[in-house]
Amino acid sequence: MALREICKYPDPILREKCAPLTDFDDSLHSLLSDMADTMYDENGIGLAAPQIGLPLQITVIDVDREDGSLIEVINPQITWYDGEVDSEEGCLSIPDYRDTIKRADQIKVTAFDRHGNEYEIETDGLLSICLQHEIDHLNGVLFVDHLSRMKKDIFKRWFKKNGPL
Ligand code: ZN
Repeated sequence: MALREICKYPDPILREKCAPLTDFDDSLHSLLSDMADTMYDENGIGLAAPQIGLPLQITVIDVDREDGSLIEVINPQITWYDGEVDSEEGCLSIPDYRDTIKRADQIKVTAFDRHGNEYEIETDGLLSICLQHEIDHLNGVLFVDHLSRMKKDIFKRWFKKNGPL
C-alpha cells in the first residue's frame, strides 16, 4: 500500500486536460491500488489521477464502501445525460469547502477497466454525481467552476481567508 499526496487547489495540475491512457499494464494496476488506498485513507468517494499529480484519464470511485463496490474508470466518456439535480459537493483537493451545484441526474458513461475492456455504466443518484465530478477533473474542471458568480465570490473570499490549503 502506498499513499499518494493529494494536490490541492490552486495547483495548476488540476487545470490540465488529461491524456487518455494507452498501456493497461502492471504499472497501471499498482497505480490503481495506490489511488484506491489514498481515496479510502482520505475518506473520499472518488479520486482522479490529476489529484495525485498525474494528468491521465484515470479515476477510482466507491460510493457504497462495500466489498466489490470500487469501480475503476479509465478513459471515460459521458455519452448521454438527462435531468437536473442539486448536488452538495466537496473535493479532496479543496478540503473543508462544500457547496451546492447543478448536475445532470442520469448519465451513461463508457469507460475501460484495468485490463482495457470497454464497459458501460448507466446510473443516477450519488454514483452519477460522483462520475460527473471525477470526469470533470480529467478535463481540468473543479466543482467550484459550476458555482454561480455570486457563490464564486464567496469561494474566493473563503480561499483568501483559508488558503493555502
Ligand atoms: Zn474532486
